[in-house]
Amino acid sequence: MEETVKKVRLGAPPQAAPSRGTGVPGWLVPLLPVILLGSTLGAVWIVLRGPVALFGVLVAAVMVLGFGWVLISSMMPAAPADRRCPQCGMEDGLRPAHEDTTRGIRCRSCGFTDETASAWMIAEEDGPLQEVVLRERKDRRNARTERAQTEDEQR
Ligand SMILES: [Zn+2]
Repeated sequence: MEETVKKVRLGAPPQAAPSRGTGVPGWLVPLLPVILLGSTLGAVWIVLRGPVALFGVLVAAVMVLGFGWVLISSMMPAAPADRRCPQCGMEDGLRPAHEDTTRGIRCRSCGFTDETASAWMIAEEDGPLQEVVLRERKDRRNARTERAQTEDEQR
């Protein structure tokens, strides 16, 4: 039987970038289930016993939050990509590690490489991504076609 499964080396990447402190703060993580359960119980309480007007007010608040988020996101420009090297600290040091993909970053100063990091934001700032995206899509399509052909040959 022909090998069609891609082999992946297990273990930590050679030089994984340290966490940049984005996402949910660590102290909040254990409280999230309690907050979500409390929200659900509060919603049930409002449906069963609360005033009907409160339900309308909460639905309106959720709608305002959603549309407000879209409005603020479209009005405020996005922050530029963080190009500071986590190893040598050089500002504007990080570049995409490969020209043909948006995966992997490399520092042009010290050579720090992280193959697992996304270079999408950096590559997008450097120029149009259309060629890279079309090349990746074509590679995926070719791999899928080759896989289908080998499966047909095996039958
Ligand atoms: Zn560096």
